[in-house]
Amino acid sequence: MKNIAIIGAGAAGCFCAQRLKELRPEAKVTVFESHSKPLAKVSVTGGGRCNLTNSFALVRDLREVYPRGHQLMKRLFHVWNHWDTMSWFEEHGVRLVTQEDECVFPVSQNAMEIVEVLRRGLDLRLQTRVAAIEKREDGKWEVFAEAKNSVGVFDAVVVTTGGARRFSWLARLGMEIVPPVPSLFPFKLEPAGLEQMSGAVVKDAELVLPGTKCRARGTVLVTHNGISGPATLRLSSYAARFLAEKACCADLVINWMGELGEEQVREALRDFAQSHPNKLVIGTVPAFDGDAAQRVLTSRMWEFMVARAGIHPQTRWSGMGKKQYNKLVTVLTADTHKVTGRVPHKEEFVTAGGVSLAALDSATLESKTQKGLFFAGEVTDVDGVTGGFNLQAAWTMAEVVARGV
Ligand SMILES: Cc1cc2nc3c(=O)[nH]c(=O)nc-3n(C[C@H](O)[C@H](O)[C@H](O)COP(=O)(O)OP(=O)(O)OC[C@H]3O[C@@H](n4cnc5c(N)ncnc54)[C@H](O)[C@@H]3O)c2cc1C
Repeated sequence: MKNIAIIGAGAAGCFCAQRLKELRPEAKVTVFESHSKPLAKVSVTGGGRCNLTNSFALVRDLREVYPRGHQLMKRLFHVWNHWDTMSWFEEHGVRLVTQEDECVFPVSQNAMEIVEVLRRGLDLRLQTRVAAIEKREDGKWEVFAEAKNSVGVFDAVVVTTGGARRFSWLARLGMEIVPPVPSLFPFKLEPAGLEQMSGAVVKDAELVLPGTKCRARGTVLVTHNGISGPATLRLSSYAARFLAEKACCADLVINWMGELGEEQVREALRDFAQSHPNKLVIGTVPAFDGDAAQRVLTSRMWEFMVARAGIHPQTRWSGMGKKQYNKLVTVLTADTHKVTGRVPHKEEFVTAGGVSLAALDSATLESKTQKGLFFAGEVTDVDGVTGGFNLQAAWTMAEVVARGV
């Protein structure tokens, strides 16, 4: 194959074009992009710093980081994984740093460095929105921009249009599409007082959507109208389809104590009360499980929890009744809220759904029914949680397609 069209100059499209140039220097590769600039999304990734991959050191099971597509990614990582990504960018002059949280960024902390490397030397046709592709009798593909304007005939077409949610032209080709829904968003909660804690960070909380298997642990950030932070975004990803079906209205249970269960918390409160009977309940954050709670709950958060449990500020530990203990334990470990919507997120927002993986050859990402038509990146039904996993999926799929083509 000599003449290849790539539709979409994003992470997957530009990386695929770069790798095709390296693997098949004789091939003619044209990248069509609807916007006036390529890689617009990459330039704002990671808050403008571009979290381009992850060390995967904290990942026990790919299911945790790819709620959709983990099996495919497991297979494709044999072809191209995070080490390959890091080596490639370093070989192309980008120095990288792995943060304590295992996210990988350019040392420059500037996403534009990644953009420059990816766009270098490409044949880009900007402001060209592809509206249709058609298979010709000679087996080649004709690509049309809007207004039925032919922009060329190609031996192969690679679709890397991202999570644009405009799949009708692909559906017309007979591609099976899993309905797209948003993923990675903060939650709006019904006002119940938590908003007074706006800005508070709880380092290790567990979020659960009752009636589902969806739960996520980690840092929770309280916002003026709900919650955000890594654990919230992760839960929105695990529960993307469930929340879409429920119009983003659901019960949410928060265990502010992270891994500590009801019984452990109750015991710790009793121990603390026995050792400090004359102290005000509101005065000191008790030591749960060694000093875990000192790290997990700030005194501001503790004061809020005590008030939320209806305990008077002058109450001492010796004066706590059974009902008050129960209420405090419930507020700490099973604090129930109502999710009422999603908050558009400026940091990260991806689409779950897209071209069904069942429609693709898992070794090459070529359509099983349309020869010469390949897919990579967010346009497929693969998406990850925050931490560099989405871009890693884009690089990996783009490499697999480059080799497949
Ligand atoms: C604000 C933000 C921050 C993010 N930060 C991170 C991060 O730090 N780390 C991480 O791993 N992930 C991050 N993500 C997710 C990540 O950016 C995406 O998963 C990734 O860009 C997907 O790459 P892609 O090439 O599949 O799609 P895109 O990068 O979205 O590229 C698709 C391209 O196709 C073009 N296009 C669409 N339709 C057509 C058409 N019909 N004709 C021509 N062109 C078309 C679009 O204009 C676009 O340029 C972030 C996302 C957002 C929104």
